[in-house]
Amino acid sequence: MKRLAIYPGSFDPMTNGHLSIIQRGLRVFDGLIVAIAYNSKKTPLFTVEERIEMIREAIGNEPRVEVDAFEGLLVDYARQRNVTTILRGLRAVSDFEFEFQLANMNRKLYPPCETVFMMTGEDYFFISSQLVREIASLGGPVDGLVPPNVQRALARKFGRKDDQS
Ligand code: ADP
Repeated sequence: MKRLAIYPGSFDPMTNGHLSIIQRGLRVFDGLIVAIAYNSKKTPLFTVEERIEMIREAIGNEPRVEVDAFEGLLVDYARQRNVTTILRGLRAVSDFEFEFQLANMNRKLYPPCETVFMMTGEDYFFISSQLVREIASLGGPVDGLVPPNVQRALARKFGRKDDQS
């Protein structure tokens, strides 16, 4: 039986921190479903389609990763996909409280559901999509924080002159 996990998040946009969790997750699981959680009432920086495309491009040719999107409860999506393992990344103590609450709520809503956490690496603990969006919107450099294709997409979004694509 294949061990699959869902790696859910907003990925708005994907960062090198996310990428690292995906790569490490593939050492533990046979396959991952990277699932973009979206809320049609909120306005993200990148559309779901743009985010799917960016994640696919950043991952490259990796048949063990599927990129998908869902709206609504994660547990409903997990049930629908028949997957009971959720993968999440932990950056700092500040992530812990919310993640602890979320993992227990998800298990309450869907008892077979287990959440597995991976500690982020020292190169990534300070990276968040929100900070990346802020830095890029203010014209700051995001190289090393996000994959090159995301860097180009941010440059296009904020009309940077250094956009080579
Ligand atoms: P959310 O909006 O649910 O926080 P994100 O897209 O920000 O979603 O993140 C999805 C998952 O990836 C979360 O488990 C988050 O903790 C983790 N994550 C985000 N950034 C990093 C990082 N730099 N290193 C490790 N894990 C990360």
